[in-house]
Amino acid sequence: MNHNGLWNRIRVAAMVVILGMVAAGLFAYVTGGGRAGADEEVGLRPRPANLAQADEPANGKLTQKASLTPDEALKRLKEGNARFVSDMPKEAELASKKRIELAQGQRPIAVVLTCSDSRAAPEIVFDKGLGVLFVIRVAGNVGGPEVYASIEYAIAELKTPLIVVLGHTNCGAVGAALKGTEQPSDNLKELVSLIHTGSDLPKDKSTVLDDAVHNNVLYQTQLLTRQSKIIKDFAVSGRVKIVPAVYNLKSGVVNWLEPRKK
Ligand SMILES: [Zn+2]
Repeated sequence: MNHNGLWNRIRVAAMVVILGMVAAGLFAYVTGGGRAGADEEVGLRPRPANLAQADEPANGKLTQKASLTPDEALKRLKEGNARFVSDMPKEAELASKKRIELAQGQRPIAVVLTCSDSRAAPEIVFDKGLGVLFVIRVAGNVGGPEVYASIEYAIAELKTPLIVVLGHTNCGAVGAALKGTEQPSDNLKELVSLIHTGSDLPKDKSTVLDDAVHNNVLYQTQLLTRQSKIIKDFAVSGRVKIVPAVYNLKSGVVNWLEPRKK
């Protein structure tokens, strides 16, 4: 073998090694490192075990706490509503630091099923920032497969310990069900048919809507455990508490109700 032949062989071998390294790097990116970064961005990675309990911010920091009990979560909501009512909400934290922390995963303390009414926004009513409430909003705060599935996801996957079914005074959807007027579309007809105003309504027109709202909230609360085995299992075992409530548009107060017995 002459000198040039040996040199050519060394060059070919070096090229093979370099190509191999490039291919290995590409493989690692596709199967691991590269994708992990992308997943983190879109929130697909599992929540790290040490992720803070997302609660109302205390001086800009997430509260470092393990999972709350249902009663602790309820207490947080009651405290937040009291701050809201007394015009002393904590400053909502919308800083990028909080967003970045929450991008790692969510751990909301309560599911809130409530009406779409623009005056009844749960995050504001309970004085809570990003990542604290898992909110499902539909006119009349009624249930349905998508609603129950969303709740199931929150309690089973996110370990959320509390479910609040929140109606509100002067609800237009409940009012429509009460009046029984013809609806302009099948979709609206279907929605209104899901609202239960109850049969024990007073004759007094000034209180009838309040009573209907109250009855509908209790009925929708009952449906959760009737329509979802997962919600029922979590409630029976005490892992989740389900609380009906009515928000007063004028006073800002959330009135907590006793669920109906079976
Ligand atoms: Zn409403």
